[in-house]
Amino acid sequence: MTVSTRLADHTTFRVGGPATTLRTADTTDELVAAVRDAWQDDDWLVVGGGSNLLVADAGFDGTVVLVRTRGVDASTDADGVTVRVAAGEPWDAFVATTVANGWTGLEALSGIPGTVGAAPVQNIGAYGVELSDVLTAVDLLDASTGERTWVPAAELALGYRTSTLKHGRRGVVLAVEFRLGTAPQEGVPVRYAQLAGSLGVDLGTPVAPETIRETVLRLRGAKGMVLDDADPDTWSAGSFFTNPIVSAAFAETLPAEAPRWPAGDQVKLSAAWLIEHAGVHRGYAVPGSRAAVSTKHTLALTNRGGATAAQVAELARYVQVTVLNRFGVTLVPEPVVVGELTD
Ligand SMILES: Cc1cc2nc3c(=O)[nH]c(=O)nc-3n(C[C@H](O)[C@H](O)[C@H](O)COP(=O)(O)OP(=O)(O)OC[C@H]3O[C@@H](n4cnc5c(N)ncnc54)[C@H](O)[C@@H]3O)c2cc1C
Repeated sequence: MTVSTRLADHTTFRVGGPATTLRTADTTDELVAAVRDAWQDDDWLVVGGGSNLLVADAGFDGTVVLVRTRGVDASTDADGVTVRVAAGEPWDAFVATTVANGWTGLEALSGIPGTVGAAPVQNIGAYGVELSDVLTAVDLLDASTGERTWVPAAELALGYRTSTLKHGRRGVVLAVEFRLGTAPQEGVPVRYAQLAGSLGVDLGTPVAPETIRETVLRLRGAKGMVLDDADPDTWSAGSFFTNPIVSAAFAETLPAEAPRWPAGDQVKLSAAWLIEHAGVHRGYAVPGSRAAVSTKHTLALTNRGGATAAQVAELARYVQVTVLNRFGVTLVPEPVVVGELTD
């Protein structure tokens, strides 16, 4: 089967021009070989589900390797379960497996698109849980040495939507190791106010992992945060901007009703609130553009069908400038940008 080299066909934004070379790796050996080949004399990019990528219309001048490896290995002991998962496993299918097996820790991360191998790249998070809570190590093909090595999670500088894997060229994740719990009778504590509210319980109340998964999927679906081929509100990279982290003194200058949460000695703000209150509303599009703010969630920029990467970038700049002018906060894009986004 011929695989399209157009990166629009491999990204959830559905934008992006061609790769010079595109290879698919179905086994870890193929992945290692394809990446080592590309490292010889080419620029390189690995792509999992393409759900955190904004690729320029000009495409990518180099080798793109699609990670399609499979395999889940688990070993259970008295205190929990250690699971090693191939990078190409679809994330949400893996979460579903953990819930079905009674392994706890990932249920709140249900419904996030993409692959297991990309999950540590930006330390995925949702509903009060981050991957770093349960990630123990990654099997890395190290770009500086060309060798495979298990890197402990503590050496990945995992932070809020970031790690050393995200913007550098540190290497390729071949597999991921997690340490999960085994479901206690009473369930797992709910760690996010909206989730607790939806379940009708107090924060911290233990709830069955299956119920957490179902509720998270329902909440995410209502925000266009579960991929759906029929719904252009999901033709996106999820949240386009991270929640800004500012000094406590700066946060004091914002309207009292602006949501905020402690982040160490700093303050995390709600990017969605800032965008809405700067006057950018759901569904907004620059006139004539096929890129628009999601009709379900202000934080997602979407492709209404036929958008270009340049149009997405134009909309992103519009949102950034509007928020900067109104509140003095610079929103930082969350997806990885590949190539030059201007015409
Ligand atoms: C509708 C929607 C909802 C989303 N919701 C969330 C959310 O709630 N929380 C959240 O954190 N994210 C969310 N995202 C973003 C995205 O799903 C995650 O970041 C996901 O982990 C990306 O996985 P991927 O396989 O699609 O990565 P890709 O988009 O293919 O790649 C992203 C980056 O990781 C690199 N990469 C991919 N695979 C590997 C690998 N094996 N080794 C090294 N580098 C690799 C790529 O080169 C690229 O730089 C959402 C996206 C969408 C479209």
